[in-house]
Formats: sequence, C-alpha cells, structure tokens
Amino acid sequence: NNHTAGWNLQNSYTSLPEAFFTKVRLNPVAAPKTIVVNEALSEELGLSVSHEELTDVFAGNVAPPGGEPLSQAYAGHQFGNFTMLGDGRAILLGEQVTPSGERFDIQLKGSGRTPYSRGGDGRAAVGPMLREFIISEAMHGLGIPTTRSLAVAATGEPVYRESALPGAVLTRVAATHLRVGTFEYASHVRGNLDELKALADYAIERHYPDVAGDYVGFLLEVVKRQASLIAKWQLAGFIHGVMNTDNMTISGETIDYGPCAFMDSYDPATVFSSIDVQGRYAYANQPRIGGWNLARFAEALLPLFSDDQEAGVKMAQDAVYQFSDLYEAEWLAGMRAKLGLFNEEKEDAALVAELLEVMKSEKADYTNTFVELTFGRVNSCSEAFGLWQEKWEARRARQNQSTEECEALMRRSNPAVIARNHRVEEALAAGVRGDYSVMERLVAVLRNPYAHSAEQAEYASPGDAPGGEPYRTF
Ligand code: AMP
Ligand code: MG
Ligand code: MG
Repeated sequence: NNHTAGWNLQNSYTSLPEAFFTKVRLNPVAAPKTIVVNEALSEELGLSVSHEELTDVFAGNVAPPGGEPLSQAYAGHQFGNFTMLGDGRAILLGEQVTPSGERFDIQLKGSGRTPYSRGGDGRAAVGPMLREFIISEAMHGLGIPTTRSLAVAATGEPVYRESALPGAVLTRVAATHLRVGTFEYASHVRGNLDELKALADYAIERHYPDVAGDYVGFLLEVVKRQASLIAKWQLAGFIHGVMNTDNMTISGETIDYGPCAFMDSYDPATVFSSIDVQGRYAYANQPRIGGWNLARFAEALLPLFSDDQEAGVKMAQDAVYQFSDLYEAEWLAGMRAKLGLFNEEKEDAALVAELLEVMKSEKADYTNTFVELTFGRVNSCSEAFGLWQEKWEARRARQNQSTEECEALMRRSNPAVIARNHRVEEALAAGVRGDYSVMERLVAVLRNPYAHSAEQAEYASPGDAPGGEPYRTF
C-alpha cells in the first residue's frame, strides 16, 4: 500500500457549494495517547492500527494524507425549535474508500472549536467519548445500523465542565454525516434552490443512486430506512434521548450517542435524559418523533418536488404517511421473531400487546423477559403471565416449525446482553482512572449479544434494585 497507514481518502463533500462547510485547521493537543482502538473496524477500513502516526490523527494533531479537514454546516429542530447549528466540536477529515470499495466519513468529535462552535469549547471529556464507543459498538453487535467508533484518544488536556475532567477525541466512522438538519439548513437558512438541489443530488448519488433525479423517491428511501431503524430501536429497548432533526441521518444510521441508554424494566414512558423534562423523546414516543422529523425533512425538500406547490405537498404527505405502516410492519415482524413465530396470524399484534401490558404491570426486565421465554425459564408466577403463556404456547402450536427451530429463531432475535447502565458506568469510572480493561471486556461481550454464552450471564443483570434513584444521562 502506497498510502501511509492505509489511508485512502477522498473529499467528495468539498464538491458541494461552499455554504455547506468551512475548511478548518486542526487544533493540536498537548499529549495525545490512543486509549482504545477498534481493530476489526480499522481492518475493514484498510488501516494498519499498529502505525504509530495514527495516534496523532486520532487526537487531531495531524491530518491524514489526502484529508481536507472541514466542519459541516447544518441546522435542526432541537426539542421542536428550529435553530442554526453546524459541527461545533467536530471535524470531517475526509472519506475513506475501503479495500472493498465502500466510502466512510472519518470524523473527529471533541477536536476543538470551529466556526460553528457558538458558546462551547469544542472539546469533549473522556467519559462521554468512551460511552459513545461502547454504545455504538453494542448497537453494531445488535445488528442496528449505526455510526461506528474507530478510536478514542486522550488529549492530555483538561476540559472544564462542573469540574476539570480529562479530555478526549473520538474518531467516528459513518456512511454519512448528512442529516435532516443539513437539508433544513439548505432550505430554510440559505433558501437557495440551486444549493438545495446540489445537496440533494449529492446525497442521492452517494447514498441512493437508484433514485437519481427523483426527489420524492429519495424522501421515500429515507422514510423506509428510518422506519426500519426506529423499529429496531424499539425492539431492542434503545432510547436515543435526543432525536433532534440534526441527529437524524439520511442513511438511517443511529448517530449522536449523548443521553441515550437501554431500558431495563419495561415502561413505555422511560426517559433517561436529564434535560428531556417533558418526555418528548421517551421510549414510546420515538416512532412518532421519527415521523415528525421526516415531515420536517419533506418540508425542506418541498421546493424540489414540483412547480405546482399543492401537488408537491401531496407527494410529500403521501411519502411521509407511509412511515407508520412501514414502522408497524417491521416492528411486528421483529416481535414475531422475538416470540419464535414464523407464520403470521391476525391476532399476533394483540398477543404482543398483552405481553407488554403484563410486563409493564409487573415491571419486568424487557431484555431478560425475552431471554427467559427463549429458554423456557420464566420465573413469574403471576396469573396474568401464566394466562399469556398459555396463549403463546397455543399460538406456537399453530405453526409447522419444531421447538428447536423456534428456540433458534428466538436466540438470534433476543440479545442475551445489552449495554446495562451500571456496567457502562463501571467501565467509564475505570476508564477515567486510566484502566481501560473493564471497558474492553464489556465491549467484547456486547459485540456478540446473541451468543448466549455462560460468561454473558454476569452482564445480564439490570443492576440497581427497583425503587432506587432512576438512572439519568447528561
Ligand atoms: P448535539 O445535541 O450533540 O446534537 O449538539 C448540538 C450542537 O451543539 C451541535 O452543533 C454541536 O456541534 C454543538 N456542541 C455540542 N457540544 C459542544 C461543545 N463542547 N463545543 C461546541 N459546540 C458543541
Ligand atoms: Mg448532534
Ligand atoms: Mg451530542
């Protein structure tokens, strides 16, 4: 390989009109040190992680060969309110074209101030960057589309929050950093049709080449991806926590692991984020918010749909209205798999709803209940649960598959482990002290959640006894 450390960067994003980005200088840090690196991902990308120069790249001290560092402009609806944003603490280094020909954005997060920083210092503390590393890898292990984490580098500099904390930079890998908010910026902040069209054409060429020239088709593709993504979140009990339109990608990858967390005991009203006081982004609201965000996406694209505004609005609505049916279908299909059901019956939705109702009233652990059902070791002795189980048994008897096939389907549909909040906290506390072994063990377990291995059992406990202080994310 001719390229240092395997870099093979392109910068197609810079072909967009200048309004969409600002070229930036890197902000070198005092004492860069790679503290965690994702070996499997670096191999997929064609990078040789043993290369000592990578630490300087991961810390933002040196640009990789061929990279043209820039920060992206975007806007977004945050908790419903429209505002101008942009990469306030992130730098896109370039797009790595992998040995298999795929293209991934390589972005630094926490790499210092940019022209879009507004108030903040552009930096990040080591805890939250390790948290993004752990949870994004857990999501990937679950089979949920997500941005990936390539590395976390300590900066050797403090960041000042409530107290001084050790600083770090995350290297994030993503199919795209184009967001619903990028289109809102083009449409509502810039209001320039040529720029909007250039952005849409670029996004379509890069991510949906099959719908070239068809902007309604593009909208519909994003609707499909997001319906599928959010169904997978719900099935896994994942709560994103900050579903602002600037945190919704047009590739359908989960992005921005801030206040996210997995639900323990089943409760549709679960909220972890300390700032989500109204519960706008509560577990049960996620599908509806997804639809709301896609309506904002459709509004941004509207000028591209038709010269006849009324006709354009009709096309936008027809596309966005498909979200709930697509979501429901994917979610129900996923729930059938979780219950070991191969065929479809009309009453399946009611069977699932009844299970969730019992789980809610018994405060049952969401993940572990499905694991217990998988291995036939449910330990609830409530009458309601017993009645439900009888119905489920009868339902399973009405399909041709064997018990073994049924269990195999359930094993691959029900994770043995999720990123339990107490386990994540334990790993972060060790990491902040400079011990990364706790995190590495946790990540190794989370990468293979459907293994149902003996060692995973110790990671399956929800931790804090019910009745304790609810878990809060920041
Ligand atoms: P988020 O809520 O993580 O999606 O961030 C919203 C916006 O705040 C984005 O434009 C970020 O770039 C910006 N931002 C978040 N943290 C910082 C920081 N420490 N310094 C500057 N900008 C920030
Ligand atoms: Mg964000
Ligand atoms: Mg964030």
